[in-house]
Amino acid sequence: MQTGEGSNQGSRLDQWLGSYAARTRGMTASEIRALFAVASRPEVVSLAGGMPNLTALPMDVVGRAVSSLVAENGPVALQYGSGQGDPELRLRILDVMVPNRVTAHPDDIVVTTGSQQALDLVTRIFVDPGDVVLAEAPSYVGALGVFRSYQADVVHVPMDGEGLIPSALSDTLVSLKRAGKRVKLLYTVPNHHNPGGVTLSPERRPQIVEIARRFGVLVLEDDPYGLLGFDGDPVPALHSLDPDGVIYLGSFSKTFAPGFRVGWAVAPHAVREKLVLASESAILCPSSFSQMAVTSYLAEHDWKHQVGVFRELYRERRDAMLHALGDMMPTSSWTSPQGGFYVWVRVPDGLDTKAMLPRAVTARVAYVPGTAFYADAQGHDHMRLSYCYPSPERIREGVRRLAGVIDQELDV
Ligand code: PMP
Repeated sequence: MQTGEGSNQGSRLDQWLGSYAARTRGMTASEIRALFAVASRPEVVSLAGGMPNLTALPMDVVGRAVSSLVAENGPVALQYGSGQGDPELRLRILDVMVPNRVTAHPDDIVVTTGSQQALDLVTRIFVDPGDVVLAEAPSYVGALGVFRSYQADVVHVPMDGEGLIPSALSDTLVSLKRAGKRVKLLYTVPNHHNPGGVTLSPERRPQIVEIARRFGVLVLEDDPYGLLGFDGDPVPALHSLDPDGVIYLGSFSKTFAPGFRVGWAVAPHAVREKLVLASESAILCPSSFSQMAVTSYLAEHDWKHQVGVFRELYRERRDAMLHALGDMMPTSSWTSPQGGFYVWVRVPDGLDTKAMLPRAVTARVAYVPGTAFYADAQGHDHMRLSYCYPSPERIREGVRRLAGVIDQELDV
């Protein structure tokens, strides 16, 4: 085995250990990833993963769209495309954003490989090591992974039942400014938060945007669940209040299918140009095939009706989850999501959801410990439960098993 000299020392497990860039230090496998292997065993009720439920997707329609795409337009669909994304898809995305009141020119849109890539691109063009990224407490685990990989200093801002707390945001910004920190982004999931299960109230939205603007902080609004609200109309996006101060991220993963890996960013003109350059250097262009498949699905299928079908499917599961929790977990408390996939549960004092997880998996139920959703050591007293994937009966069974585990822990 060859090892380097000086500080470039390898190890028996990884001969290149001494060669990695400093930024890889923040790259550690998420708790969710480690769980997937165990939780995917059929006897385990997984309330852990946030996989969209595709049982309601008309596969025959998708299949026809895909095969006619190749038959009729193969040489274009299978070719490289524009780095910014297919112009026809960008036009259709404008329609998809109407309910959330995001207005833009098609040139303001950059198509990405899921919104996950947009998170990466935005962080790449704005964040130097040590720059602060503000994020809700708790925050989306996949975004935290991106911020960590660019060596950002993530500072959490508390939420309550109405979402991010404006006074906490301005207090945090004042103290960071005093400490001489550079705050680059406010990352927020305002609708049907992952993992918090809350939505930022309409009253707070202008306040959040105003505070960010006052402190010169760009808002990164991540909105994959905006169309998946169970009651009433969607609340207007933060972007609608300040298009120059907000980058809006959307995705087809939850309203159509995640396997196509199509998402997008809407950004101010100059930012958009940098995003396109960054994306070209990462992937040259998003998949032409996926983009054209999504475009033809949007053009030929009643996608709004389909979103309604998904909404009803998730509502039924949300109801099953909340009923089961109410019936069986009297010592815990939880959020009541009005949309999306997740419930954020606070367990009784003294319990540690991370330590408890192996016992839960032995009892054939899985969840994600709260610690996964913080960049610091918080979250031991919380867990995220997803209701999107299992059937209502399995959800009830999963909660029954979980309640049994919690009761046992309390007895010890
Ligand atoms: N943001 C949030 C809040 C999410 O929950 C997810 C998916 N779990 C993503 C972004 C990434 O979605 P995709 O890359 O599939 O568009």
